[in-house]
Amino acid sequence: MSTITHRLPQKRHLVTELPGPKSVALAERRQAAVPAGLGSGVPVYAVDGDGGVLVDVDGNSLIDLGSGIAVTTVGASNAAVADAVAAQAHHLIHTCFLVTPYEGYVAVAEKLNELTPGDHEKRTALFNSGAEAVENAVKVARVATGRDAVVAFDHAYHGRTNLTMALTAKSVPYKHNFGPFAPEVYRMPMSYPYRDPLGDDGVAAARRAITAIGTQIGADGVAAVIVEPIQGEGGFVVPAPGFLPTLAQWCRANGIVFVADEVQSGFCRTGDWFACEHEGVVPDIVTTAKGIAGGMPLAGVTGRAELMDAVHPGGLGGTYSGNPVACAAALAAIDQMETLDLCARARAIGEIATSSLTATAALLAADGREVIGDIRGRGGMIAVELVRPGTSEPAPDLAKAVAAGALARGLVILTCGTYGNVIRLLPPLVIDDALLREGLAILGEVLAESA
Ligand SMILES: *Cc1c(COP(=O)(O)O)cnc(C)c1O
Repeated sequence: MSTITHRLPQKRHLVTELPGPKSVALAERRQAAVPAGLGSGVPVYAVDGDGGVLVDVDGNSLIDLGSGIAVTTVGASNAAVADAVAAQAHHLIHTCFLVTPYEGYVAVAEKLNELTPGDHEKRTALFNSGAEAVENAVKVARVATGRDAVVAFDHAYHGRTNLTMALTAKSVPYKHNFGPFAPEVYRMPMSYPYRDPLGDDGVAAARRAITAIGTQIGADGVAAVIVEPIQGEGGFVVPAPGFLPTLAQWCRANGIVFVADEVQSGFCRTGDWFACEHEGVVPDIVTTAKGIAGGMPLAGVTGRAELMDAVHPGGLGGTYSGNPVACAAALAAIDQMETLDLCARARAIGEIATSSLTATAALLAADGREVIGDIRGRGGMIAVELVRPGTSEPAPDLAKAVAAGALARGLVILTCGTYGNVIRLLPPLVIDDALLREGLAILGEVLAESA
């Protein structure tokens, strides 16, 4: 494993209150120019970023434990990615793949076919966003099966387009007043060990969903079952062992396309290339985006050749889909993941984060403040679910206070969860140990103060 050198000092350094005066001035300009419907979790305007550090317009250096939203896995300005982007931009910023194709697209497809689980023959189509990838996975599944129904799960998040809003579980803010939604989408109970009466019995949780699919749709009406192997926006819900394999097996037996939405959990994030590998699950289709291209917009749909090739010529595509610069960035980012062994790095980060959070939970519990209901996740995708002391009642106000308290000290963390009560950690996988530990220490302090 080679080591990474950083351009920016990997140090937290605050020179103003947060947000500083320049960020406040930009927020005022923004208010007059950008619709209110676009929220920003962290009201600080960024100008630079590298490794585990973000620099704002006021010159503050913050610790980044969000990576955008799980995007800048190799860093926000990874030198190899930046060089690849610049080199490609000097030759061909765009030529539509549907008009005059280029090698980069083919090379990214080959790479995804190689890296995604299973050694069967595969094909990959590229798109611009995670939502677009999910939409296209559904298009492929419907053509290939000749069926209509699509099954998604409680707490699922699949995007903000019409079809992906239909697949997404949470109303506010994602779906509220945006309907009517795409039809033939069915929602099934998820395995959510912390809140599920079936607890750690993933096989029983899968059977519960399978029974409901049978009664509500009938297996022969289902084109696709789509699931996040570890749910992202829904709260980093890790289904109990057995849930994913049982579901995948049943789909295979019933001619249903099993789609793993790895948009958030993919590309080393969980300590494997893809989260479904942890239980040896081989999906029929994998959707990818976020971490795929070092921050450039790109998404992939990778699936069994016979499924992907079922679509008629001209049925898939898009003006910008698989843009040459984004493809160059993806090839460089994936090369960084391989040469820096970021899967191993994710596992190490997971151990450091989990032990720090476990210690914080014990400290809080020792004086009767049992607000950490659950610590979960895998690798570089770790979360704490916050609750009212000693209960499992969600504490979204506490999560909000902790995120705000962290920011005031120069630590960027994100919240998530159906109940808004989950603090999630998605550090760039190239973050230094020292900076990661400092971030976790701040999080521990803020949790202790806010609880
Ligand atoms: C973010 C996300 C999406 C949507 O991706 P966009 O690029 O924002 O469209 C879809 N699925 C999952 C699991 C995600 O985390």
